[in-house]
Amino acid sequence: MRNVLILAVALVFSGTPALAQRLPGGVTPTQYTLWFAPDLAKATFRGRESIVVTLAAPSTTITLHAAEITFGEVSIEDAGGSQTATVSLNEKDETAALKVARPIARGPATIRVSYTGILNDKLRGFYLSKANGRNYAVSQMEATDARRAFPSFDEPIYKATFDVTLMIDAGDTAISNGRQVSDTPGPEPGKHTVVFARTPKMSTYLVALLVGDFVCKSGAAGSTPIRVCATPDKIGLTSFALTAAEHQVGFFNQYFGIPYPYEKLDIIGVPDFAAGAMENAGAITFRERMLLADPAAASASVLKSVASVISHELAHQWFGDLVTMKWWDDIWLNEGFATWAANKPLAAWKPEWRMDVNAATETQVALGLDALQSTRSIRTAVNTPAEINEVFDPIAYEKTAGVLGMIEAYVGPEKFRSGVSSYLNKYSLGNAAGEDFWTEMTRVTEKPVNRIMKSFVEQPGAPLLKVKTRCVAGATEVSIAQSRFAGAPDAKPQAAQHWTLPVCVKTATGAASCTLVTEAAQTVRAPGCGAALINADGHGYYFTEYEPADIAALARRSPPLTEPERISLLGDEWRIVRAGHHDIGTYLDVAEAIAGDPTPAIIADVSSRIAFVRGAIADAGERPRFDAWVARVFRPALDRIGIEPKPADSDDVNNMRGTLLLMLGGDADVQRRVRAMALRYLDDANALPPSLVAAVLQAAASAGDAALYDRYVAKMQASIAKPEEYYRFFNSLAAFADPALRSRTLAFALKDARSQDTPLLLGQLLGSDMDTTWAFIKTNWQALAERLGTFQAIPYIVGSLGNGCSAASSADIKTFFDAHPVAEAARALQQAQERIASCVAVDERQSAPFAKWLSAHSSNQ
Ligand SMILES: [Zn+2]
Repeated sequence: MRNVLILAVALVFSGTPALAQRLPGGVTPTQYTLWFAPDLAKATFRGRESIVVTLAAPSTTITLHAAEITFGEVSIEDAGGSQTATVSLNEKDETAALKVARPIARGPATIRVSYTGILNDKLRGFYLSKANGRNYAVSQMEATDARRAFPSFDEPIYKATFDVTLMIDAGDTAISNGRQVSDTPGPEPGKHTVVFARTPKMSTYLVALLVGDFVCKSGAAGSTPIRVCATPDKIGLTSFALTAAEHQVGFFNQYFGIPYPYEKLDIIGVPDFAAGAMENAGAITFRERMLLADPAAASASVLKSVASVISHELAHQWFGDLVTMKWWDDIWLNEGFATWAANKPLAAWKPEWRMDVNAATETQVALGLDALQSTRSIRTAVNTPAEINEVFDPIAYEKTAGVLGMIEAYVGPEKFRSGVSSYLNKYSLGNAAGEDFWTEMTRVTEKPVNRIMKSFVEQPGAPLLKVKTRCVAGATEVSIAQSRFAGAPDAKPQAAQHWTLPVCVKTATGAASCTLVTEAAQTVRAPGCGAALINADGHGYYFTEYEPADIAALARRSPPLTEPERISLLGDEWRIVRAGHHDIGTYLDVAEAIAGDPTPAIIADVSSRIAFVRGAIADAGERPRFDAWVARVFRPALDRIGIEPKPADSDDVNNMRGTLLLMLGGDADVQRRVRAMALRYLDDANALPPSLVAAVLQAAASAGDAALYDRYVAKMQASIAKPEEYYRFFNSLAAFADPALRSRTLAFALKDARSQDTPLLLGQLLGSDMDTTWAFIKTNWQALAERLGTFQAIPYIVGSLGNGCSAASSADIKTFFDAHPVAEAARALQQAQERIASCVAVDERQSAPFAKWLSAHSSNQ
C-alpha cells in the first residue's frame, strides 16, 4: 500500500499485547470459492462462499473472521457428511465461531456460508464509491477488512487460492485478481455473471473486487497483458500509466529474476480511495490523482509521482504478494522494500528524474521522525486492527527503505540483487519473517547484513555520530562516538544504544572510504586531509555532528558534494540545531552558502526550514529584518532564472522558480506578478508551463481576495475529470488567509470535499492557521469523526496538530482528547505533543542566539 497521508507521525507501542483478535489456529484454509451479487442502489451485497480447510485436530468449532456480515445458512462438510453449523459472533474481536454437533474430523473439510453484507461508505472492505451520478462497488482489504467482504481467515499467514464470481448489473463490468474466464447473461433478470480464473496462493488482504462502468486501455509487457482502467470520463488519462507499467514489469522481471507472478495485470483508478494505492495481486487499485495524468499537460512532478507509485505497487507483486510477511509486525519488510525498489526502474527509465535525490529526501523524512523520543522501532508488536493500521508510517516505509539503501551501497548493488532474488525464490508463494530475509541476504552477500539489520530493525531511533577529525600523515583519522540521537534541547537521557553500521568518509581526495562501525566509540581512517564528509553518497541512516569549522568548509563544498550529500549535510545540521547542540546561526550560514544551489529539492528543503525559523523562532519585531535577509540571500537565484517562465526552461528550472516564488511571495513586487500570472492561467490553460502552475496558484492565493477564491473554486469544480488540475486548485484553498475565505474552506472540508480528501485539507489548514482550524475541528468533532472513519484519517489530523508551537495549545489539545478519546490516535496524540514541546523548547533555546545572528546579518539596521 502507498500512503497518501505522508506525515511524520509514528506511534510507539507500549503495554501488554492484546492477543484476543488473533485466530486460535489449528484450521488452515487452502481454497476459497467466492460469489458476490452487489446491489449498487441499496448499497448491500449477497455473498456465498465455500472454503476448503484442513483441521489439525478434530473439533466441533471453527473460528474465522467476520465483520458487518449477516450470516444465512452455514454448513461444514467432512468425510462423515455435511452438518448445519450455528454461528456465534464476537463483534469486538470481529470473529464468528461456527459450531456443529459432531466433531469435524482431522483433515480436510469444506465450510459453506451464505450471507449478506453492506457496501459501506468508510472506504474499507467491499465499499461504495460514487462518481458521475452513479454508484460503484470497490474494495480495499488491507490490512484487516477482507472480513467485511467475506468470512475468512483474515491473517496474512493463511494463504490460499481464490475462485471469484460476480453477478452484476447488465452493462457493468467487473475486475478481480484473476483473468476473466467467462461472462454469461443472468441467471437473475437484468444481470450477468463474470467468472475469474483461480488465483495463485495469496493472503486475504490482497483480494480485489471492482464493479461499475470501468473502461480500460490495453497493453502488454512480454507475455503479461496489462490494462489501465478508469471511469469512462477519465480513460483519456491512462496512457502514461500504461507506458510506465509496461516498462516497469519488464524491468522487475529482470531485476528479481522471476517472471511477473500473475496471469494479467490490471491497474484501476477508483473515485473514492482511502490510501494512495494498493498492491492487490494482479489488480492494483489507485486513488485517481496518483494514477491519471495527461502527458501533454502534466507537470513533471505528477508524472514522476504516478510512475513512482505504480513502481511501488508493482514491486509488491513479488515482494509482499508472492512472498508475504508472516504477521503485520513485519509490514516494514513489505513497505520498506517497495519504497526502496520503486526508484530502481525509474532511475533506469528517466535518469533526469534523479531518483537518488528522491531517496535522500525520503530518508530525511524518516530521520526527522526518528529524532523524536516517541518514535518506534521498525519492528513493533501489533495485534488489534487499530495497532496494525498505525504501523503504516514513515518508519515502515522511508526508514526501512533508507536502511536497505545503506546496505545495498555497502554490499554492492549486484550482490544485493542476487540476495533479494534468492530470498524470493526460497519463499515463493509462502510467508517469511524479517529474520528469513536478512539470513538469506547474509548467506548470499557474505557480509554481516544480519547484524546491521537487527540493530536497525529492533532498536528505535537513529544513531548520532559525534565526530572529531585530524590529519595524520596525509590521512584523515575520524574518531566516532555513537549514541541515540535526541532531537530536542530538553530531551531526557536515553538508554545507551549503539548500532552496527557502515560509515563512509569522503575527503578532499573525492573517494569514499567505508568501514563497518560496530562499537560505541571507534576510529576510522580515510585517505587525504581537509574537511571530511562522514556520510559519503548520503546512503547512511544516521546523523553526524560535525565541528563548526568543518560544517563551514563542507557548506562551501570542499570537498565537492553530490546532491544527496548536500541534502544529508543540510538535514544533519538542521537536526543538530533543533537538538540544541549548535546555534541557529550555523544552519542559516549553511543555508546562505547553499542558496545558489541549482537543485530544486535542496532549495525546497532549505525553504521549509526557513519558514520554521520565521514562524517559531523569529518574533514579530524580528521578522522584517529576517525577511530582508531571506530576500537578499535568495532573490538573486530568482533574478538569475527570472520570475517569468521562458519557453526553453526545463522542469527543474520551473520547479526552482515555483519554490522561490513561494519563498519570496511576501515581497509586494513578487506578489503582484504571481497574481498576474495566476490570472493569465485562469484565462488560458496554456499560459504557464505545467511544472510552474501549482506554485503560482498557491503563491497568488496567499494574498488572494474573494474574487480570486471564487475563480479557483469554479475552476476546481469544472475540473472533476482532470485530477491534476482539480488538485492544483484544491491544494491552493488552504493558502487563502482572509478569515471569511478560510471559513468557506473549512466548510468545504467538512461537507463537500470527498471524505478521502478531508484529512488532507484539514492538515493543510492546520499548517496555515492552527488556531482557527483547531477551533473548527473541536466544534465539528462529531461530524468529522463520522466522516473520517477511514484509513489513518483521524491519526493524520491529530498528527498535524504537532505543527503547533505553543504550550497552551498543547494543553488544550490534551484536554479535548481526554474528553473525546480516539483509541486509534492515542499515540499520534502523544507524538504531536512531543513535537509541540520540541518547538517550544527550540524557540527558548535559540531566541537569544537568533537575535544575535540577526543583528550581525542585518545590513541596514
Ligand atoms: Zn506499499
